[in-house]
Amino acid sequence: MNDKGEPEGQALDSGPNDQQAEVDDLKSATVMMVDDEPITLDVVQAYLEDAGYRKFVTVSEPAKAMELVASENPDVVLLDIMMPGVSGFDILAAIRAEPKFRHMPVIVLTSSTDSETKVKALELGATDLLAKPVDASELVLRMRNTLAAKAYLDRLASYDRLTGLYNRQMFGEHVDWTLRLAQRHGKSGALLHINVDHFRKVNEALGPALGDEFLQAVARRLEQGARGSDSLARIAGDTGTPRLSRLGGDEFAVLLVEVDRTESVNTVARRFLMQMSEAFNVGGHEVFVTCSVGIAVFPDDGMDRDTLSQHASVALKSAKQQGGNTHCFYSSELNARSLQRLSLNTALHNAAANGEFRLFYQPKIDTRTRALAGAEALLRWRHPERGFVSPGEFIPLAEESGLILELGAWVLGEACRQITAWQTARLAAPPIAVNISGRQFAQKNFLSTLEALLKRTAIDTRYLQLEITESIMMGDIESNIHTLEGLKALGLKISLDDFGTGYSSLSYLRRFPLDELKIDQSFVRDICAPGKGNSSPIVIAIIAMARALELKVVAEGVERQAEADFLREQGCDQWQGYFFGKPMPAADFTKLLGAAA
Ligand code: C2E
Ligand code: CA
Ligand code: CA
Repeated sequence: MNDKGEPEGQALDSGPNDQQAEVDDLKSATVMMVDDEPITLDVVQAYLEDAGYRKFVTVSEPAKAMELVASENPDVVLLDIMMPGVSGFDILAAIRAEPKFRHMPVIVLTSSTDSETKVKALELGATDLLAKPVDASELVLRMRNTLAAKAYLDRLASYDRLTGLYNRQMFGEHVDWTLRLAQRHGKSGALLHINVDHFRKVNEALGPALGDEFLQAVARRLEQGARGSDSLARIAGDTGTPRLSRLGGDEFAVLLVEVDRTESVNTVARRFLMQMSEAFNVGGHEVFVTCSVGIAVFPDDGMDRDTLSQHASVALKSAKQQGGNTHCFYSSELNARSLQRLSLNTALHNAAANGEFRLFYQPKIDTRTRALAGAEALLRWRHPERGFVSPGEFIPLAEESGLILELGAWVLGEACRQITAWQTARLAAPPIAVNISGRQFAQKNFLSTLEALLKRTAIDTRYLQLEITESIMMGDIESNIHTLEGLKALGLKISLDDFGTGYSSLSYLRRFPLDELKIDQSFVRDICAPGKGNSSPIVIAIIAMARALELKVVAEGVERQAEADFLREQGCDQWQGYFFGKPMPAADFTKLLGAAA
């Protein structure tokens, strides 16, 4: 543990092979030095700094030593024995009298050559002795050995011997610490209790030795599952190390932090279930098991270790009562939602095959000529029972399951088909903008499949535009710029969607080869907000910025005359919104084209 009560872990997390990293980790230890001569403190610190140590607490008034040991909780103490007033012996005895400091490494510095002093120091519990004046290389060597021994002991005390995962004690401390941080920063997360179904039977069949081997394999598989869940949630750990624990027997726990949506917890839990259901090979035997997962989320289900873990256990019990191989939330509301999503997910998978998707088109209007200047293609799903399901609901689901790739490809194909149909009918259709999802955009073959599609359909690429959200763009910037350049080379126009909701800075925007900014609806709503007097400084700023970058500006979600007027006055190029036209089926949009012609 370090001074903030955080589980230390640092020196312990590195793999056994990574020796250099381990040595480097030792150097992040907090070294406390107690000596009445400031000059000695300076010299010793200089030696240690040369060796790479960085954190020091120096004490030249022996009377204050105990107080600082308690508040700083150093990893090692260098203690001078001969000091006026309170002697080093007194301090050593006081440290050892405190149960939690019983194993704190204390290296005693002594200029005395008589063995009596040394024996006394060792009897009082000194970890090691060092002669004064201090020899630099000896100091560094002793320091390293002492810290390495401490790290090893810490490891034994913190980790489960069988699986190498955190033990219950250490995991509990980790949960405490995470919850404190989460509270401070308003973060949410979840505690998962995972249990192998019918483990007793498996264990009896395998025998104790293979049973242990099986549990080790379970731990490895959970670790893999945890790593694979990185994009959805952070498995609470500072250095990217999964924070998993074996609480005992066949019960495991995982702490997820920064999960913004319960859907992500759902997905992580399902992933664990799926991974565990694959065959294990234990000592030449194929073993098939399932497991159950109980989930408590914070802050809603509790904000302290005990409450949260009790609730995760309750949820685990209900998962078992349902026959296992499933996950349950503690909160009944979340359970209901999770079930609903599961059935929606299944329906979504069938929807593509059943031809339940349609593209609707929403007009974009030129603010000066008031003529039709473009259209946005918006996906619609007609669910056989529920009717139209909003893309706001099913797109995130499709993103999670990966179905979005198939869906996105369908949308692009359908838009191209429609563009061709309009052109064949000699209708003056404007450019059509298609929304591209993050996963679609990040696909390695995104460019090449798009290129193939354009070739196949032979559409004039001036009629196809892509809308990419600001948040997608701010991901891997270099690679995104590369993809954008490829799209531009194909002759496509690029629009930055939901602009203003992300964190783009002017300097990044300048580097993206864009054609258009779409002001997010929330800012348009702002224009007529009470007390604004039909104005909005943000909208003014966005339009000015777009001007400076020579980009077109489109405002989406325009619902009122006053919004439209203000936007035109400020120099916005196009309006899109219910005031001018709702998204409509292709047939209706075709009529609109016919009327305009
Ligand atoms: P978006 O790209 O920001 O699309 C604009 C949304 O605003 C559409 O909602 C549109 O119907 C709605 N809207 C337009 N004018 C107004 C207005 O005046 N007032 C209000 N309140 N809303 C207006 P929709 O169609 O429900 O789509 C929601 C989101 O789903 C879209 O937001 C887009 O992010 C996503 N989406 C839709 N179609 C696709 C698609 O084909 N592919 C992908 N990847 N995402 C899509
Ligand atoms: Ca859009
Ligand atoms: Ca938008």
